[in-house]
Amino acid sequence: MSLIKIDKKIVGYTVVKDAAAESKFAKKAASVEDNVIRMHEKLERPEKLVGSTYKVKTPVSDHAMYVTINDLVLNEGTPHEQRRPFEIFINSKNLDHYQWIVALTRVMSAVFRKGGDVTFIVDELKAVFDPRGGYWQPGGTFMPSIIADLGHIVEKHLIEIGLLKKVEPSKDTQKFIDEKRAEYEARDKQTDAFAKGSFPEGAQLCVKCNTAAAVLLDGCQTCLNCGYSKCG
Ligand SMILES: [Zn+2]
Repeated sequence: MSLIKIDKKIVGYTVVKDAAAESKFAKKAASVEDNVIRMHEKLERPEKLVGSTYKVKTPVSDHAMYVTINDLVLNEGTPHEQRRPFEIFINSKNLDHYQWIVALTRVMSAVFRKGGDVTFIVDELKAVFDPRGGYWQPGGTFMPSIIADLGHIVEKHLIEIGLLKKVEPSKDTQKFIDEKRAEYEARDKQTDAFAKGSFPEGAQLCVKCNTAAAVLLDGCQTCLNCGYSKCG
């Protein structure tokens, strides 16, 4: 490399590109992209869509809500086959919810049809807190709002169709949870106090997974659901 003396003000710059490599890359990308259909707004709704309906029963409403998410299968029968959510409907007898249900389902369906990464919707919904307080679901998970409950349903659906990966404790974490659980059960001889699949009575709410599964072990709150420990 030779030294260049700059004796003028620098008013702009360009990055030197490797033209040969770039055109090769573009060609390769184009050949892959050519026949693959991706989700975008102009994609017309086919006559028939496949979908799933989920029932949501919350203690804050007398009536259950039914959430239907319909999917579009793109590139069926090819290696690029992908199932994508296309529209969402929520049915509820409770007319108090009517306005926000209409607004939310229209906006969500529009986001689904836009294409790209739609999984952010899950976190956005799950982060909504009802100022009147949330509620407990059977199984001991705290729902901060009905909207958050819907977020969990969308998440479940996206995991089912393969757009999201299920977050499970790693092998090490699971081993740690099992050990801690055994230790706790042995210590207090509480084996009868709770059935397998739920958590000990008196367990505290875990700040990470919102499940009442945190127990005090060696002076440290440890979650028997996700493995979260206050002491790291
Ligand atoms: Zn947890």
